[in-house]
Amino acid sequence: MEMSGFTEDQLSVREAITKICSNFPDEYWAERDESGEYPHELHAALAKDGWIGIALPEELGGANLGISEATMMMHTISESGAGIAGAQTMHANVYATQPIAKFATLEQCRRFLPDLISGKTRVCFGVTEPNTGLETLKLRTVAKRDGDFYYISGQKIWITSAQVTSKMVLLARTTPLEDVKKKSDGLSLFFIDLDKSATGLELKKIKKMGGRAVDANEVFFDNYKIPADSLIGTEGEGFKIVLHGMNAERCLLAGEALGLGYAALTRASDYARDRVVFGRAIGQNQGIQHPLAASFMNLEAAKLATYHAARLFDASVKDETITPHSVGVACNSAKYLAAEAAFTACERALLAHGGMGYAQEYHVERYLRECFVPRIAPISREMILNYIGEKVLRLPRSY
Ligand SMILES: Cc1cc2nc3c(=O)[nH]c(=O)nc-3n(C[C@H](O)[C@H](O)[C@H](O)COP(=O)(O)OP(=O)(O)OC[C@H]3O[C@@H](n4cnc5c(N)ncnc54)[C@H](O)[C@@H]3O)c2cc1C
Repeated sequence: MEMSGFTEDQLSVREAITKICSNFPDEYWAERDESGEYPHELHAALAKDGWIGIALPEELGGANLGISEATMMMHTISESGAGIAGAQTMHANVYATQPIAKFATLEQCRRFLPDLISGKTRVCFGVTEPNTGLETLKLRTVAKRDGDFYYISGQKIWITSAQVTSKMVLLARTTPLEDVKKKSDGLSLFFIDLDKSATGLELKKIKKMGGRAVDANEVFFDNYKIPADSLIGTEGEGFKIVLHGMNAERCLLAGEALGLGYAALTRASDYARDRVVFGRAIGQNQGIQHPLAASFMNLEAAKLATYHAARLFDASVKDETITPHSVGVACNSAKYLAAEAAFTACERALLAHGGMGYAQEYHVERYLRECFVPRIAPISREMILNYIGEKVLRLPRSY
């Protein structure tokens, strides 16, 4: 990757993270992908050096940097060969805590965040539901207040790392959809204990295509009891609150996609320099060389979009002239462009390896499998295209 133009903070993040990740080579990730064993060691190593709190306030134990630096961190983790699996050991801990730091009371922040930053606890993010999918505003999980407690009932799906986390940032409905003025009202955000020994909580692992070291789960709540002071901000305003974390997440995931794309291109060019067929290195053929060169430029363009979005997100905290709309457009565009550029890079890298691209030994098949995640989550390519069509180009809403 071309490194000019980054800030000193971003460059030092990259250097430190590269050093930590060098203890977790591609072979480690290939083996974990095969065994499905959770990569606790990476999370522990990053927590030990204070990286989980990269974008959290100093007074709570964080490093007080921004999403620009956090994106560089996730990008570097992924590019090390750890891919999306490695990034997922950190992902929710970094972005799902952003709305907590902004909207929770100081007492709640002190209760929740220092233990996450030190690595003592971990958090997962519970939004997606099986029956409502991308139509988040119709989610059906409910939180009913009774005295000092809420009781949660409903079902979440695709919840990453829920098997190993003891906390969850949860979005649930507190006022029925039919009783609210706007569909985005009546949802509330909670920071809850995920106590697997308690009644009313069950988890079921999902078998999946890639990133198999990190679990994905269905989570079932049946009158699961949580203290009322798990509520973040005002009841009914959870959707507005969670959006703050969602834009940050788009930047992180864009960084993770870029990392995979650059890693794949490095592997492909190494292979294409060495592999000799018909008396010359395969990389001497333009049919191999040009697709890799074009993929590199696509990644560089997506890199600009990604770090522009992250910079805008950070600047918008202090600069009120940067509107939520501009931040949303930049973050969504970055996630889309990075995911697509990375996917193309991974596909071409695999093909440049010929048959060996299909072998686990060269790792590009693992990158390609994982590269579908940024295209699907946290919001699909189609929904980003819908968003740009409607909100930027002012075309009629298509759905
Ligand atoms: C590996 C992985 C990890 C994940 N981790 C988490 C997590 O930790 N927490 C969490 O809450 N969620 C998580 N998710 C869920 C993820 O955010 C969702 O899968 C994603 O938002 C898509 O929702 P869906 O699967 O319900 O798709 P659906 O809503 O069922 O959509 C299916 C397809 O239809 C398309 N579509 C739907 N409506 C339209 C329309 N109007 N116009 C055009 N196309 C449309 C979509 O783009 C998509 O291609 C994860 C998913 C994966 C795969």
